[in-house]
Amino acid sequence: MPTKALVLIMVFRAGFTRNNNLVPTVSLDQQDNTLPSALYIVAMPIGQWSDLSSRAIDILGGVDVILAEDTRVSGQILKSVGVSTRMVSLNAHSEAGKADRVIESLESGQSLALISDAGTPGISDPGRLLVDRVVEKGLPVVPIPGPSALTAALSVSGFPAAPSHFFGFLSTKSNARDQELERALSHDGTLIFYEAPHRIVDFAERLDQKARGRKVMFARELTKTHEQLIRVVAGQCADWFSANPDRIRGEFVVLVGPASTERAQSSIDADQILRVLARELPPSKAASLASELTGIPKRMLYRQLTDESEE
Ligand code: SAM
Repeated sequence: MPTKALVLIMVFRAGFTRNNNLVPTVSLDQQDNTLPSALYIVAMPIGQWSDLSSRAIDILGGVDVILAEDTRVSGQILKSVGVSTRMVSLNAHSEAGKADRVIESLESGQSLALISDAGTPGISDPGRLLVDRVVEKGLPVVPIPGPSALTAALSVSGFPAAPSHFFGFLSTKSNARDQELERALSHDGTLIFYEAPHRIVDFAERLDQKARGRKVMFARELTKTHEQLIRVVAGQCADWFSANPDRIRGEFVVLVGPASTERAQSSIDADQILRVLARELPPSKAASLASELTGIPKRMLYRQLTDESEE
């Protein structure tokens, strides 16, 4: 069995260079026609098939094997672009069990592509565990970037991308859902969630209760015929859905704008409240009461008080 160092040298000879972080990457001046051995993480369309990039098509046509979340779903789009590479299923249930086999294939010099049904693998889709194992082995992982509902929705939200926090799907259990949403809402910045159509009204109702006054965007059916961007204020989310049952159909990304947007509108009040309370109370207590009164996260108010006292 070759040692890890030997395996890495073999990989570099096959066309890879290595950066200081010890993750091998494809060398840009690669002249060879054959695809270097690597695990290629290929983004697939999220609705519009023509969003599949020509580089993605080249990679998918050039690898030895495509690992697909659902071979039937991906088979249709691959056929439409003339890719007939052998496909093997790799889904959330089989991912961990198949990692060793993938590593063996990479060590023997094969090239593999990982795809999911839609969007970028590893983003609320299988892939993370496999990539982690392959990176840990010092074998090359190459991103072939492209569509993801996460970045597509954020790019049209008008909300800041930094800071932003991606939470994927909330739990399906009611209590855990409440707790996860409350925890998410305590973060500064834009909050991004995925949600299934049959839970979107429930999500909207919870936002109405817990995020009242914050700007919300429902990015629906991105890149598809019924694409829609809905900007509402929390408190009116469920009303928007109940006005027309057709609005529940499709796929959704839900974005919550930062509390600081709200803060800008009521900043005088918040500053005044904070200052008056801080005259009589320790910073933590003052921030906690001001947070209750204004809806601005306690951490932000506390930081404002402590930063001011350091100046
Ligand atoms: N890996 C994918 C990505 O990169 O976006 C996400 C896969 S996750 C299993 C599926 C969820 O992504 C959907 O429930 C929805 O929240 C979101 N999504 C995927 N396609 C979408 C679209 N066209 N419009 C809006 N949301 C979408």
